[in-house]
Amino acid sequence: MGATEKLTVNAAGVAAPREDCPLDKVRLGISTWGLLHTMAAFYSDNPTDNEKRDMRTFFEVLSRLYPCEYCAKDFRTDMEVNPVNVNSQKDLALWLCKFHNRVNDKLGKPLFDCSKVNERWRDGWLDGSCD
Ligand SMILES: Cc1cc2nc3c(=O)[nH]c(=O)nc-3n(C[C@H](O)[C@H](O)[C@H](O)COP(=O)(O)OP(=O)(O)OC[C@H]3O[C@@H](n4cnc5c(N)ncnc54)[C@H](O)[C@@H]3O)c2cc1C
Repeated sequence: MGATEKLTVNAAGVAAPREDCPLDKVRLGISTWGLLHTMAAFYSDNPTDNEKRDMRTFFEVLSRLYPCEYCAKDFRTDMEVNPVNVNSQKDLALWLCKFHNRVNDKLGKPLFDCSKVNERWRDGWLDGSCD
């Protein structure tokens, strides 16, 4: 993955990062978290055994194939200690929020308030600012 950001001049004549370059670790991470949290947001409240198996398999495979080698290695180690909880939408969203917070902590980023995870990724903020 590219480490340096290439700039281009946009329609307003302003130098801005190109949108069509290979993803670096940061953009890959932001996009992947968006997919994962949205998958958890729309997971079933009462998943079938097949749905549970599929979701567990998805995370196991992702932790092997995530295209940042050391991120994936830490991901696998974390999943051994904190196995993915696929019992319900609430459980999965909370497990993922806590996992994301462990990555945030490792990177020195602020922790997210997991009581608000469904506001952030499913329902929109209570103040209506996403409506
Ligand atoms: C599985 C995985 C492992 C990674 N491992 C590494 C690594 O080892 N080293 C590395 O340098 N980068 C890693 N990354 C990338 C890193 O986590 C960030 O995506 C990247 O640094 C960009 O961070 P950001 O601050 O823009 O927001 P991100 O951390 O990408 O978060 C995106 C948005 O999610 C929301 N959010 C933040 N925390 C939570 C939470 N706990 N629960 C719910 N929503 C939340 C916020 O609104 C935020 O704007 C990993 C990414 C993934 C998907």
